[in-house]
Amino acid sequence: MNAKRERYLEEMGLGPVWKLRAREKRAAESPAAGTGAPPPAATRPEPPASKQSAPPAEAALSLDDRGARVMRMDWAELKAAVAGCKACALHKTRTKTVFGVGDERADWLLVGEAPGAEEDARGEPFVGQAGKLLDNMLASIGLKRGENVYIANVLKCRPPGNRNPEPFEVAQCAPHLLRQLELIKPKLILAMGRFAVQSLLETDSSIASLRGRVHRYRGVPLIVTYHPAYLLRNLPDKAKAWEDLLFARRTIAGL
Ligand code: URA
Repeated sequence: MNAKRERYLEEMGLGPVWKLRAREKRAAESPAAGTGAPPPAATRPEPPASKQSAPPAEAALSLDDRGARVMRMDWAELKAAVAGCKACALHKTRTKTVFGVGDERADWLLVGEAPGAEEDARGEPFVGQAGKLLDNMLASIGLKRGENVYIANVLKCRPPGNRNPEPFEVAQCAPHLLRQLELIKPKLILAMGRFAVQSLLETDSSIASLRGRVHRYRGVPLIVTYHPAYLLRNLPDKAKAWEDLLFARRTIAGL
């Protein structure tokens, strides 16, 4: 491991836990083995996705028609459509839409939940504390925002007060992410956090039960991991996220 990468790991507070281990040793070791640290404490599972939906009146517009239109858009049209989107009530409270950022021909598509306050102010995904951690996580496996990586969210607008996205909002926004996926044609999707994972895979299963396997979204291999914001609150799970990233890197290398 080079010094730069080691610095990233230090900054993430991961120290030796995140260091690559010899393949034969890895299976036998727990994430914290050799660090002198106690085994990871049981951590709070991420809460289940909101089941409530309250469609506003203007939503009666045909989602099928809009979806079909979105599926024919090129990048410029799609960006303009998202910037002017009023398909759900989130347009009333957003500051900026957060379209997504990165290499538009990336092999890696990272999908988070929805913009937070800083993202809403700047119009770019993952620019707050969670974004810093995400950048460090990417660096730890030799990746960089914008270079062979595209970062997007399920929702392009911030839910007020960072509440959970509602199913109606997800349904209205889904064509945008789907079109991004079609235009990028990534080799792999890394779904980050309970919300993105459950939305894309249409499941109520926990991240813990879905990790370590290759799923598919619209035919594209998908690997699940924890959300960087969750990892900021649940430090022991960083080791699991590191395992997920290594698994994703091995998977993409074998595609
Ligand atoms: N959390 C997300 O899921 N996405 C962002 O862009 C920022 C925080």
